[in-house]
Amino acid sequence: MTQSVERFSCPRLTLVVPCHNEEQVLPETAIRLVTLLDVLAQGTLIVEPSIFLVDDGSVDGTWCVIERLAIEHAGIHGLKLSRNFGQQSAILAGLLTAPGDVLISIDADLQDDVAAIEDMVRAYMRGAEIVYGIRRNRQTDSFFKRTTAEGYYWLLQTMGVELMFNHADFRLLSRRVVEELRSCKESNLLLRGLIPQLGFPSSLVYYDRQVRFAGESQYPISKMLSLAMNGITSFTELPLKAITVLGMLVSLFSFGLAFWALVVKLFTTAAIPGWASIVIPLYMLGGIQLLCLGVIGQYLAKIYSEAKARPRFIVEKSL
Ligand code: UDP
Ligand code: MG
Repeated sequence: MTQSVERFSCPRLTLVVPCHNEEQVLPETAIRLVTLLDVLAQGTLIVEPSIFLVDDGSVDGTWCVIERLAIEHAGIHGLKLSRNFGQQSAILAGLLTAPGDVLISIDADLQDDVAAIEDMVRAYMRGAEIVYGIRRNRQTDSFFKRTTAEGYYWLLQTMGVELMFNHADFRLLSRRVVEELRSCKESNLLLRGLIPQLGFPSSLVYYDRQVRFAGESQYPISKMLSLAMNGITSFTELPLKAITVLGMLVSLFSFGLAFWALVVKLFTTAAIPGWASIVIPLYMLGGIQLLCLGVIGQYLAKIYSEAKARPRFIVEKSL
């Protein structure tokens, strides 16, 4: 981690909580977060604590719950997006709207351990501009989720993408980093890939991942796959390079094959070209070409959506 300078004045802290169909869990989450922030403020670790609940196009009563919470607690604010933009955009909307010297994004379902917030602020006081929450274990995740997630982190790291292993979106950002984030205009957002690229002194805080307090996961397999694809196509050109190398290898191989066929024809009597030597390369090359077109297509689609430069979120209402 890079060198950092200790801080002495208490920061204004804001929590950013993305919420998609979380009406069951939000009242409990709000109580726990408000209680924790009160304790931290009394202990003079932070000042002016606030909580930004971002409703990401929920179709249940989430917004009504947020409205009620905002009336009951002075420190709670609400942001309603005009439709479901996805967790990454919901977090970004909160980060770019909320005030504070320090902003922490945290899931609404209490899977991220709220006790780690204090450790994050202390790491900030010691000089970190970014503090990553790292899951110490994944025992509460299903076997499928655990293995696919860990395999994915491994794949991206192998491809040269700078990702924190077992870190998702529970992190502290200083105001300085948030302002830099504001200048990153990409529509295909993967904050956990983008933020390490900003640099700055950073620190890690380990926590135990809890089970979801109530409700269901808002991440079906389709959303998981699209997030995973974003991570690859937004941060590495390695697949494009790999298919170029593959193309070269296949070409070399076919030249070799042609040379071998010529030798057999000229110097032996066994030159009856077989069925396999025609049909197998046909299928093989067809498959490789389709694969390559697919990879190029993925990047092309990325360029297309970035070129459109549509807003990454639209705020319908704010409290
Ligand atoms: N979320 C969101 N928009 C979405 C999907 C999820 O804001 O389209 C929020 C969700 O309300 C929760 C967080 O993102 O606060 C993490 O989602 P979830 O707990 O469903 O994911 P999991 O923990 O199962 O990976
Ligand atoms: Mg969750």
